[in-house]
Parts: sequence; C-alpha cells; structure tokens
Amino acid sequence: MEQKARWALALHGGAGTILREKLSAAGEASFREGLAHALTCGRAALKGGGSAVEAVERVVVALEDNPLFNAGRGSVLTSQATVEMDAAIMDGRARDAGAVIGLRMVRNPVCLARKVMEESDHVVLAWQGAEAFARRVSAETVDPEWFITDHRRKQLEDAREAAMVTLDHNDGKYGTVGAVARDSAGNLAAGTSTGGMTNKHPGRVGDTPLIGAGTYADNRSCAVSATGHGEMFIRLTVARDIAAMVEYQGLDLAEAVRRKVLIELPEIGGSGGVIALGRTGRPVLTFNTRGMYRACQSEGGQAEIGIFAD
Ligand code: ASP
Repeated sequence: MEQKARWALALHGGAGTILREKLSAAGEASFREGLAHALTCGRAALKGGGSAVEAVERVVVALEDNPLFNAGRGSVLTSQATVEMDAAIMDGRARDAGAVIGLRMVRNPVCLARKVMEESDHVVLAWQGAEAFARRVSAETVDPEWFITDHRRKQLEDAREAAMVTLDHNDGKYGTVGAVARDSAGNLAAGTSTGGMTNKHPGRVGDTPLIGAGTYADNRSCAVSATGHGEMFIRLTVARDIAAMVEYQGLDLAEAVRRKVLIELPEIGGSGGVIALGRTGRPVLTFNTRGMYRACQSEGGQAEIGIFAD
C-alpha cells in the first residue's frame, strides 16, 4: 500500500554571490524574517488542508509583497527604468499551468498567473493582453511607481554606469522568488515570480514564466521552481528536464537536480539553483552559486532557513 503523502514545502528568494561578509547582521535578519514569514503562509495553507496550488500562491504572494526580493514590489528595473514582471504557476494534478509576461501594474503577478490557469482558455498571456485580462478578472492593480524602490533605482544607475545587464543585485544575486509544495493528498504544485534582470532590454523574457524552463509540476514526477541566469535555464529546459529524468529514467530527484544544476548548467556558464519536491520525501534545494535564500519544512519536521552555501 502506498504510504500517505506528508505535506512538504520549499521556497527560494533568489540565488547568487551572497557572501556572509557583505550582508550586515540586520540585513541577514530581515531576509531570514521574510523567508520565515513566507514559509508560515504556505505552512498554514497546507496544515489547514489547503491544496498545493494554494500554498504555493500564498508563499509567492508573501515574497512578492516583500521589497527585499526581486518580484512584485521591489522588482528590478529595465534599461528604461520601468518594471516588467513575469510569473508562472503549475498544478501537478492535471498539469494545468498559467503564466503572465511583462506586467506593469498587477500587484501580485502569481495571482494573475493562477487566474490564467483557472479562468482562461490559455496558458500564457503577455503585455497589454495580460493587463486587459487582469481588468476583466478584477485583479488588484497599482500605480507602476508603487513597485519601484530607491534601492532598485540605485542599482539601475550602477548598472548603466557599468554598461551591464545585471541579475538582481550588483553582487550577482538572482532575486526571483518561487515555491514548490506537496499537499497531504499527494498533489504537487510549483510557482515562480520575478522582475527579471536589472537594466534588461525592454521585452526581455526569462525562464520564470516559461513552463518547463523555470517552473514545472507533475504529480507523476516532481515540482520544480528555478532561480538564476534565465537565458541558460531556458536553453536547458531545466525544470521539465528534471521531471523527465525522474519520470523516464527513474532517477532519484536529488540526483536529477544535481545533474542539471551542478553539472549541465555550469557547462554553459549557467549560475543559479532550483528547489524541488517529489511524490514523497524531503524537499531538494540545490544551487551552484555562493548562496540561495531558501526555506523548507516537511510535515512533522522543523522549519529550515538558509542563505549561504555552508
Ligand atoms: N531567472 C530570473 C530571470 O532570468 C532571474 C532570477 O532568478 O533572479 O529572469
């Protein structure tokens, strides 16, 4: 008889060159607090019998609303000093998915992605079409300026001076947020949300909203959410490939993730990490950078929060 699934949850707030010596004690405390709060939101959903999709959405909303992370409020700026946000969510039950690209006014992109999944005939909506859909489903919108923080303006100035397209912080951190969950019915879900890259070309789309690149969930294999240099994650279809290794090769989830993140991505210069959850077992959180803002918890276990590689 198959063992009853235990609920489990993992989240990330971006990966990169996150160095202990560069993060002040107060800064570290704020990040830890933000991660703990997001974990609490997801855990409450799962403990209350909520679905994996519900838990993932709640976690991502908490991180989108936290200006420390590069998603929702606090998103990084394009070369034209605007915000263009992308998000995706996937339900592993029937492999339903929804994604949004290039949002400028929707407060919580992951919620709109869920509405695309549940209330439209489509999987991906972009730009003005996505904003029109947001109005139709009465998604909360805010003035585009609301998303922009002083820290992001300064980052853009620095990136312009250096004539560089940088990934979130100048220290090379990818601040995208994401979550994977397994509910007690054994269903899996994944969600990811991002502002993309500082000084990015307007119209640039990363891996986050591309199903199979930055986000994927299938009850038969696993749920995956990625963070890192999106172009490389797209080229290697990272999230779907991990699921395929588990599904077709019968590989252990941790081994599939290790191959993708620690071997194949570095081969093409791709830095970042993923969080993943299988049908059973503990969450897998793996990155090839100096750190990844992360947290996880499984039913009956303690909450774990991490930032640095060690
Ligand atoms: N993967 C995101 C992107 O390329 C960046 C990140 O993870 O912070 O848009």
